[in-house]
Amino acid sequence: MKDTLKHKGKRKQLVKVLEDKGILSRAVLSAVTEIPRHLFMDSGFEDHAYQDKAFPIGAGQTISQPYTVAFQSELLQLSKGDKILEIGTGSGYQTAVLCTMGAKVFSIERQQELFKKTKLLLSKLGYRPKYLSFGDGYKGLEEFAPYKGIIVTAGAPYVPKPLLSQLAIGGRLVIPVGDDPQMMTLFVRKTETQFEKTELGEFRFVPLLENKN
Ligand code: SAH
Repeated sequence: MKDTLKHKGKRKQLVKVLEDKGILSRAVLSAVTEIPRHLFMDSGFEDHAYQDKAFPIGAGQTISQPYTVAFQSELLQLSKGDKILEIGTGSGYQTAVLCTMGAKVFSIERQQELFKKTKLLLSKLGYRPKYLSFGDGYKGLEEFAPYKGIIVTAGAPYVPKPLLSQLAIGGRLVIPVGDDPQMMTLFVRKTETQFEKTELGEFRFVPLLENKN
């Protein structure tokens, strides 16, 4: 597993693309600059790693498009040390971005094969999420709640209640909602019972699967 100057050069170009598309957060852009995205894909596909595109990672799943990862990460407005819950660990790339931004990351994946493979990869690459969970993201992860941010990286047909209830006051839930495409939706928890909702445009994700664990 190698990261070369050539890869670093390509990452700089990718960062430029993300800036041109409107990503402003320095923390997000520097995470993309640092993280060897090609190592989160099967070797042989590394030519695709630094294009701004989603890509299949096996088992019918995808590594999200860099712009989507950047957009969602920016929406979390996280500060170092914040507890963040990710639904859909997948390739682990988004997890690595959040770790690099200084978050305490908890992440859930329901596909056992991917869960195992990604857990190993993240540790090999030196990323240290607080906890990787094999389970159903619809339920969130109650034991470590509340979270400052929750990021859902699969298309949710509806907003799962546990995710709203596991948000800290002032916390942010970033979730693509709907069938195909999904509406990127931000919920900010204002009080125990009040949430402010903002819709931020259409995106395409693989589905958040229910009752399949
Ligand atoms: N964050 C990932 C995106 C992966 S695609 C990345 O950066 O690569 C979405 C992932 O969500 C898939 O790995 C899929 O298996 C997972 N997923 C789908 N339904 C889920 C559920 N109910 N609970 C947890 N993970 C789920």
